Amino acid sequence: MQIVNKKSWFFRLPGLLLGVWIFTLFFPINLQAQTHYSIGIFHQQSIKMLMITPHEGEYKIKSADSLVYTLRTNDIVNISISDGFLQLRGIDSFLGAFQELSIEGHLSKNSLRVKLVIPGKDARIYPDNMRVFAKEKSIQLVNRVGAQAYIAGVVESEGGPSAPFEYYKAQALLCRTYAQGHLHKHREEGFQLCDGVHCQAYHGKATHNDLIPLAVEETGSEVIIDDSGKLITAAYHSNCGGQTVNSEHVWVQALPYLQSIDEHYCLSSPNARWEKEVSLSEWVEYLGQHGIDPSQEWSKENLAFVQKERRQFYVVADDSLELKKLRSDWKLKSTYFSVIPVEEILFIDGKGYGHGVGMCQEGAMSMARNAYDYREIIHHYYQGVKIVSRP
Ligand SMILES: [Zn+2]
Ligand SMILES: [Zn+2]
Repeated sequence: MQIVNKKSWFFRLPGLLLGVWIFTLFFPINLQAQTHYSIGIFHQQSIKMLMITPHEGEYKIKSADSLVYTLRTNDIVNISISDGFLQLRGIDSFLGAFQELSIEGHLSKNSLRVKLVIPGKDARIYPDNMRVFAKEKSIQLVNRVGAQAYIAGVVESEGGPSAPFEYYKAQALLCRTYAQGHLHKHREEGFQLCDGVHCQAYHGKATHNDLIPLAVEETGSEVIIDDSGKLITAAYHSNCGGQTVNSEHVWVQALPYLQSIDEHYCLSSPNARWEKEVSLSEWVEYLGQHGIDPSQEWSKENLAFVQKERRQFYVVADDSLELKKLRSDWKLKSTYFSVIPVEEILFIDGKGYGHGVGMCQEGAMSMARNAYDYREIIHHYYQGVKIVSRP
């Protein structure tokens, strides 16, 4: 009887595995709650010296769990690097050389003021705790920050301090979705995400508008998923100029929720229009360098180019160049522009700012001012997605 039972379990195993597989298909990631993030800060800097002082609460500076120093209100420590070791100094004493330090507060509301001395940078305030370690000839700072405080910091850095509440909520979902989907991006460097546009801009604690932490709090642990349950690629940009872009026109992959839409919400916003003038001869020379034969009979009509609807290529006679290449080489605000040659000048008449994929931030702000809520904003820019809580 027992043997039969064992056999039946054995034969049921594929069914069980199928069950687990189906479960993970629908609930694929992050079964562990994401309560904190580790963010590499001042990521682009090669830091040689900095100063740290408490902004709220007091801190303990520890090395391998033993207390090195207690950092009280108005106390300052200076950290520099020499021979691959952190040199920690108080106001008038040398406190030791370390490979790694952790700076820990124990209140729910702790924050640190961090000022880079070499290279010199304006001080920033960071919530929660900090890990500091020697990285060859420079110092690496890692902010170990509560999930909601991090998202609020990103929303302020990416969305600015004076936008409407429902827009902040939409932006919070995008930033949280991105963060949860990229937890391993900097694993080799000892943290999860960096603080630059490579990941998401994060300039420390959100301090300029109380609506931002409130919007983050009210959206709880909501993220955006596609119809297979995967976190979406939460792309956004400043202004679409009236039409967003298919993801495959900017990156390689076509995603069903990142397809072009027409919209009018952003058309009277600051980044809706732009213009630039370049000399006709420089333009022709550039085209020659990029395989569009300059020896052929140029006529200004050939160079003229009109985009009523967004296009992917700039077409000159029988040749063409990708608009995203032109945008990058000529430092244009967007690929949504028309070209008008007049005598020796080429006028570039442009619309929008940014790559154009996903949410148009200025459009979303305008929708929020017109009483749309954050769910309507998300569903306007991303087709067929779902908003779910995923702690
Ligand atoms: Zn990064
Ligand atoms: Zn727009």
